[in-house]
Amino acid sequence: MTSWMCDKCGYIHEPVTTPPEKCPSCKSECSFVDNSCYTPDCAGKPNDPQIKKDK
Ligand SMILES: [Zn+2]
Repeated sequence: MTSWMCDKCGYIHEPVTTPPEKCPSCKSECSFVDNSCYTPDCAGKPNDPQIKKDK
């Protein structure tokens, strides 16, 4: 499963297949980034093909 993090407030969304359109924490249309990719290997680069596909 993939967890998602709001790039504005840092809210961690429940591990779901796709992130919500709006952040339930800051109520803005923030870019949820693939939090599961936050490893030293990818150095915080978002790996979020699903967001790009939806937008
Ligand atoms: Zn947020």
